[in-house]
Amino acid sequence: MSDKYQKPLPYISEVSRPYWDAAKRHGLVIQRCQGCGHYHYPAGDTCPRCLSDRLVWVKVSGWGTIYSWIVFHQVYHQAFASEVPYVVVVVELEEGVRLVTNLVDCKTEDIEIGMPVEVVFDDVTEEITLPKFRPRVYPANTVR
Ligand code: ZN
Repeated sequence: MSDKYQKPLPYISEVSRPYWDAAKRHGLVIQRCQGCGHYHYPAGDTCPRCLSDRLVWVKVSGWGTIYSWIVFHQVYHQAFASEVPYVVVVVELEEGVRLVTNLVDCKTEDIEIGMPVEVVFDDVTEEITLPKFRPRVYPANTVR
């Protein structure tokens, strides 16, 4: 963790605060509609499927798969200049929600669509923890 983190940080609104508070505790939570059961991200005041405002935050497994990915070769923000080329991925969680995020502990040539991944947490400042993903690590006795 460093207070010298120079990259852009997320804007935290009152609506999205539970997501970031959970990340700080190294937990991943997603809004779920009590009306229709739909999970959705980013957070909102109403369910995008049925427009109910009966939303709750639920802890999710943090397991998902790579839905899409891209390598950034161009410097779009100076804070990332030393990292190009870098990978940005779209992870589809088991709950169906897709997050734009970073993949860590994985070489670019090893990335595959559908690859199982799991959440990890990067404490980038005292206040902000970024959920990122790595190739899923299965316990030794797990049947895949
Ligand atoms: Zn709904």
